[in-house]
Amino acid sequence: MARFVIRLDDICPTMDHEKFARARAHFEAAGVRPLMGIVPDNMDPDLIVHGPDPSFWQMMRELAASGWGISQHGYRHRIHTNDRGLLGITARSEFSGRGLEVQREDLAQGQAILVSEGLGTDNFMAPFHSYDRKTLVALKSLGFTTLTDGYGLFPWRAGGLRFVPQLFERPANFGIGIYTMCLHLNNMTMDEIDELGHFVTANSSRFIDFDEAKRSEWPAALVWPLGMSLKLALTVKRRLQ
Ligand SMILES: [Zn+2]
Repeated sequence: MARFVIRLDDICPTMDHEKFARARAHFEAAGVRPLMGIVPDNMDPDLIVHGPDPSFWQMMRELAASGWGISQHGYRHRIHTNDRGLLGITARSEFSGRGLEVQREDLAQGQAILVSEGLGTDNFMAPFHSYDRKTLVALKSLGFTTLTDGYGLFPWRAGGLRFVPQLFERPANFGIGIYTMCLHLNNMTMDEIDELGHFVTANSSRFIDFDEAKRSEWPAALVWPLGMSLKLALTVKRRLQ
């Protein structure tokens, strides 16, 4: 049976506080623990919805302590290039297309902020789904082990890193596999968040933590052929959207 992981992008002190609180209440009621992508030092004006929440970092620590997953979502969520990166999804990137040293430096700065907040993690979530081979080299050198992104039905390993696939925003699935639902709460309406809450409550046994997803791997020999076919199909679909 298909299993779902929820990934919340763009988590930062200036996110939409009401929408986050509403979604959090749904997830907690259903006993579902999402993976949060925290922007360590947000500089993206699109992610400034409300004034900075002074209790943000404490709230993150509490959620982490209760089993919510933490991942580093870039460094400042700035657009430095229009490189689509290895996944070829969005023509915007904070990392892809830049030199190894600057990428590593930005990743290290972000990592240091999360560590200083007691939220050190080996999970990485690329802003705009865009990263290149240099990003992967830099991540590995900084001790990251896992990315939430990529085309596949099950997590796999490549180049010393683990990839937990992310295909759809909605709970679409092919009957088997692990699906990461990628959600941007800032852009959802309260009705959409409630609808999501109802789905999560009705299907709570099908949701797993990111840590559990990380442990479920398929051999690369099986995953790559499937992943490549999915990549073709989804790249076409996403460009048409
Ligand atoms: Zn983002």
